[in-house]
Amino acid sequence: MKDINAPELSLGVVGAGAMGSGIAHVAALANITVHLFDNRDGAAAKARDGIAARLIKRAEEGKTSRETAALAVACLRVADSLEQLADCDVVIEAIVEDLELKREVFRRLESIVPARTILASNTSSLPIGAIAAGLAHPERVAGMHFFNPVPVMRLVEVISGPDTTEEVLAALTALGRRLGREPVAVKDTPGFLVNFGGRAYTTEALALVHENVATPAQIDAVMRDCCGFRMGPFELMDLTGVDVNFPVTRFVHESFFGDPRLRSTPFHRYKLETGQLGRKTQRGFFDYREGAVRPSPDAEVSTPPARSVVLAEPDAALAALARDCGAAVLATDDGTSPILAAPVGEDCAAFACRTGIDHRRLVAVDLAADTSKRITVMTAPGADPTVRGAAIALLATAKAVTAIADSPGFIAQRICAMVANLGCEMAQMGLAQPNDIDTAMRLGLNYPKGPLELADAMGVGTVFRILSEAQRLTGDDRYRPSQWLRRRAQLGLGARVV
Ligand code: NAD
Repeated sequence: MKDINAPELSLGVVGAGAMGSGIAHVAALANITVHLFDNRDGAAAKARDGIAARLIKRAEEGKTSRETAALAVACLRVADSLEQLADCDVVIEAIVEDLELKREVFRRLESIVPARTILASNTSSLPIGAIAAGLAHPERVAGMHFFNPVPVMRLVEVISGPDTTEEVLAALTALGRRLGREPVAVKDTPGFLVNFGGRAYTTEALALVHENVATPAQIDAVMRDCCGFRMGPFELMDLTGVDVNFPVTRFVHESFFGDPRLRSTPFHRYKLETGQLGRKTQRGFFDYREGAVRPSPDAEVSTPPARSVVLAEPDAALAALARDCGAAVLATDDGTSPILAAPVGEDCAAFACRTGIDHRRLVAVDLAADTSKRITVMTAPGADPTVRGAAIALLATAKAVTAIADSPGFIAQRICAMVANLGCEMAQMGLAQPNDIDTAMRLGLNYPKGPLELADAMGVGTVFRILSEAQRLTGDDRYRPSQWLRRRAQLGLGARVV
């Protein structure tokens, strides 16, 4: 096996589409000779010219030196047949996502390349073990899952099949580093890390819409403003396209034999069936056509702000919030003021039932997330609209307010707890090391924190409580806490303790 850092390393790339071109681009920049093959006439040459044009443009814009660009362009070679990959030290396959076609490519490669050549697949969903099955040398086959667009996305998942040797994994990890990526070792499991772990953020958002708790605009605003995500789940799905994210969601759900944690909603499929795919069709969860107005996530203020409030339970943070907004916090209930509470995991109905307070005046506020820009409030069925309006008007004097229907865990608690729980489950399954799970989610999905880091930031006990309450109140095992999370919550440990 060739030293991956040898200057004369040569790489074969099979399939010169979006991913193959991206892989060739970063390899050329790392001064690796790349032989690009595509079975569509002219596709490899077109890809090479496209990469060269992008590299030259970067030099013209001063983002890289002309010399670097010229050296990289000189590394790009077009192969007219698979046989021309005979001298490659590593070959990465990036053809269409079709198991039989991929198997055929690997079978043919085995008869072309020498025994020392490592073979990798960039598949996003097929088991590496299935691609390697039946080959004479499955031990040199592994997954090398890059993300789109490759030059921008730093993560690469390195996946071992049932026979892959440690040597091959180490070599591909070194190759990933040489290509300027951050490699993460992952087990051969449906969706690997990112496409599996990325489910909760969007599927829980879809569940909130399904239950008519909140609108996509409200959910996106809360996840951006209160949880630091760069994009809300709905604008994210509109960007990637429902034709991409619905099939991945369904594939992961089916692969885990219908685990309710991974369940989507009919509304998600409806978007696909009606061709509302997102930005690419000008319409998805939002309307991108000219003149379309994005619905506001902010509650309307139509009544004067409350002058005083009562707290359902002693809560210094809630008292400070009310005072900062200009209201007096009454020591005894005057029978008319809004009653503020900050439940964790409970909805207003359950909270009122447990504490015996008047549900008509109860206004629940989510203090579990960052409330510096936006705050989420919810009320029980039968809430007094005047009291509700006065509480919203009070909070709106200081920040944006999102008013939603009754829900265990509001928006932020629910979605963050589900993201954290899936991260814990991945750790429990031993799919990767806890830190690698966090790295993969940050780099592969642009999350502000990895799921286990998120659990630690929220408090492992708090995440466990949100999920346990949601499971108890809804009767839905979708919310069952991961055993990884439960054990650490019970022992008072951090989420990343192994
Ligand atoms: P693409 O359609 O852009 O490119 C595929 C290329 O493979 C085409 O140029 C096609 O002509 C060529 N091809 C098909 N059969 C071939 C064969 N037998 N031999 C040689 N070339 C052949 O697809 P893509 O988006 O680049 O995806 C490629 C692979 O990467 C898939 O396995 C996909 O699941 C995976 N992937 C895609 C993304 C993404 O966001 N697009 C991300 C990660 C992984």
